[in-house]
Amino acid sequence: MTPDHGPLLYEGKAKRVFAADQPDRVLVEFKNDATAFNALKRAELEGKGRLNCQISARLFEMLEREGVPTHYLGLAAETWMLVQHVDVIPLEVVIRNVATGSLCKQTPIAAGTELSPALLDLYYKDDNLGDPLLSESRLQLLGLISSQQRLEIEQLARRVNQLLLSFFESLDLLLVDFKLELGLNSAGQLLVADEISPDTCRLWDHRNSDPQARILDKDRFRQDLGGVIEAYGEILKRVQGV
Ligand code: UDP
Repeated sequence: MTPDHGPLLYEGKAKRVFAADQPDRVLVEFKNDATAFNALKRAELEGKGRLNCQISARLFEMLEREGVPTHYLGLAAETWMLVQHVDVIPLEVVIRNVATGSLCKQTPIAAGTELSPALLDLYYKDDNLGDPLLSESRLQLLGLISSQQRLEIEQLARRVNQLLLSFFESLDLLLVDFKLELGLNSAGQLLVADEISPDTCRLWDHRNSDPQARILDKDRFRQDLGGVIEAYGEILKRVQGV
């Protein structure tokens, strides 16, 4: 089902954004397209849009219940979400609880090392530049955010990490790391935007000790492990409490 929507405003790798009935709201359609390695690897995965939309919705609802401001307003259809219109800050905020992925490619830190306190990395969101990791001095040089906003972003991201960590832990899932995007609404309020899904989180199944079988996130696609949709389906079942 496709809800009534206005013109297409923006199309990204995994989502399309359409105008809604009010200027401060937009409708987001989650697509089935899967991409990795800065879109060098692509596939169409039937059902992924629905799964990510529904998982994101449950996670945004949980965060809202806990008082975290997000752009989420509600579901509009199986693959459609109504959200507040925000100016997205072009930063990818990555929080890591366990070392893996790019951290272990770029540093001698061993995969699997527990990171406590969690490591927060900021990347400049620009596909053409390959989303480069930012130092604090480069962040200041870019002038994208004030130092006050820098603090607010870190506090918000750490709070989201605490809430997601314990929520997933209660579902027998380890939140290894994840990426957040933040935006400012028309009132200038900082909100969690974009999506929170197995495309943007690494989630390991505590019910499975096999290092490949326990992976229930986009690494299944990145590493050609198969069973991507089944893994995302398992995440949805758990976040729905089924
Ligand atoms: N991530 C993301 N989008 C990006 C880059 C990273 O959602 O453009 C997520 C990724 O799924 C993982 C976390 O951020 O949960 C950390 O990713 P990492 O820096 O290790 O990058 P990767 O291993 O994917 O190169």
